[in-house]
Amino acid sequence: MTFLHSCQRAAELISQSLDEPLDMVDKLRLRMHLSMCGNCRNVQDQLNLIHKMGGQIGTIDVCDDSADVPLPHGNSAG
Ligand SMILES: [Zn+2]
Repeated sequence: MTFLHSCQRAAELISQSLDEPLDMVDKLRLRMHLSMCGNCRNVQDQLNLIHKMGGQIGTIDVCDDSADVPLPHGNSAG
C-alpha cells in the first residue's frame, strides 16, 4: 500500500469523501495521512463544517424578512 505523498492529494480525498464514499484503500490512505498530518486534519474539519452547512450558507446572509425564528433562550420575564 502506498501512502499519500502530498497534502494536495489528501485534500482531494477529503473533499471526495464528502460527496461519495471512498474506496476502502483510499479511506485507509487518507486515515494514515491524517494520523500524521495535523494540517490536513484541519482541512478536514473545515471541509466538514462547510459540507454540514451546505445550502444554509446561501440563506445566512439574507434573513432580513424572515426574522421570526424563535430564539434559543426564551426569556419571557415580564
Ligand atoms: Zn497533509
